[in-house]
Amino acid sequence: ADDALIALDTFSDRTAGLMHPSLRLGVTGLSRAGKTVFISSLVHNLLNGGRLPVFEAVRSGRVSKIRLAPQPDDAVPRFQYEDHIAALVRDRIWPDSTRAISQIRLTLDYESASGWGRMFSRGELSIDIVDYPGEWLLDLPLLSQDFRAFSAQTWERAEKGVRAELSRDWRDRAKAAALSGPAEELTARALAESFTTYLRACRSDERALSILPPGRFLMPGDLEGSPALTFSPLPLPPEGRAEPGSLWAMMERRYEAYKTHVVKPFFREHFARIDRQIVLIDALTAINRGAEAVADLEEALAEVLACFRPGLNSFLSSFLTRRIDKVLIAATKADHLHHESHDRLERITARLVQRAADRIGMAGAGLEVMALAAVRATREATVEEGGAKLPVIVGVPMSGETIDGQVFDGKRRTAIFPGDLPANPDLLFMPVDAGRPAELPLNFVRFRPPEIEETGGGLKLSVPHIRLDRAMQFLFGDRLA
Ligand code: GDP
Repeated sequence: ADDALIALDTFSDRTAGLMHPSLRLGVTGLSRAGKTVFISSLVHNLLNGGRLPVFEAVRSGRVSKIRLAPQPDDAVPRFQYEDHIAALVRDRIWPDSTRAISQIRLTLDYESASGWGRMFSRGELSIDIVDYPGEWLLDLPLLSQDFRAFSAQTWERAEKGVRAELSRDWRDRAKAAALSGPAEELTARALAESFTTYLRACRSDERALSILPPGRFLMPGDLEGSPALTFSPLPLPPEGRAEPGSLWAMMERRYEAYKTHVVKPFFREHFARIDRQIVLIDALTAINRGAEAVADLEEALAEVLACFRPGLNSFLSSFLTRRIDKVLIAATKADHLHHESHDRLERITARLVQRAADRIGMAGAGLEVMALAAVRATREATVEEGGAKLPVIVGVPMSGETIDGQVFDGKRRTAIFPGDLPANPDLLFMPVDAGRPAELPLNFVRFRPPEIEETGGGLKLSVPHIRLDRAMQFLFGDRLA
């Protein structure tokens, strides 16, 4: 009887899909990549008649109405669009970032442009935007790793480069915890906390390292403090099996519980239902931090991309019946650069994506790459300096930001010369002695969100952006044809 019920469910899902087509758009990226800002601006621009010349269905006037509609999944939190937009537009502060999964539904009424469609020329498309932390995707490799392999890999990584210093405290504690000693909750908690502190330090603004499973340690969602999250990798015990009742055995059990109760359900219940995906990456921050951060981002991207080729993973291919048919990798925050550098950012990102795809033996085909700014916080100008004209960007740097010792107060408009990205993207991936610039001449400050102009009637215009319309056209333009 259960089977019949399920069959009926799928059937009604399908018939609902026929009468009321919908598209599930996943939006992901590591924390601070710009997911919240992207979704808020996309929805705002669609609802408020934003300037979207490349989004054909809107430009040609075929979309007659766009509205927010109740989402189909009652058990998933709603994306708090209204709060985020109030922060961005009214208060001119950046909204709270993504901490867990959420969704929001947009419904578009449109007229079909295709000859065939003219017979039924009116259409309706619902777009379910699903926002989730990219950290959760980095957990996929754990499914094919036992606790021993996970511990060994994490330990090895923690001893390298800048991580060695950041992980020292955790490693000292883990070594000191008697491995075959009894399983004590307090020891487990102290180790889990110290491990999480290390992961957080890697993610801090100065380091900007990316690759940090288990994903929920940084983005716990509603699982904070649960036993499935209170574990830590350990130094390998001497040969042989760990004693039952030992700390090792306890950690091992919790690690397995994490995989069973946290990782698998996410992939099965949420990831499996996505049709199209945008992955946001903060390539600029990584470039600005240097070679280690870029290499790390590349590695993280490889693991993210592997999720979109289920053939590469037996767990995924065991239940994925349909396939995500379009994936867009977008470098965000392009408004930190003068437009002359936007194409350079795009080329560097394409190179990064290609390298990441190569790592996992995946053809880069089918992946689209763009550089965009969901919210353009700056304008462009030129200033004269010593007879030369310099391209600059003008915006209000956030309070506390500094350049060359100058501290900003968050109130004054300031012109900043952002510097140039290298024209040849390969330079960034070479060792310094082979041509990689030891330091890039980039000036990055975080800007406040822009002031939004008002029309005569006191109505706010839509949020300014860079190439957001191109992303829309790629992600769902064909579904409005
Ligand atoms: P999330 O963690 O992926 O949800 O990241 P957010 O969307 O909260 O973005 C993190 C931060 O990046 C924001 O608070 C902004 O400071 C910055 N940011 C994101 N998108 C943009 C953008 O398009 N332009 C600019 N200038 N800053 C952005």
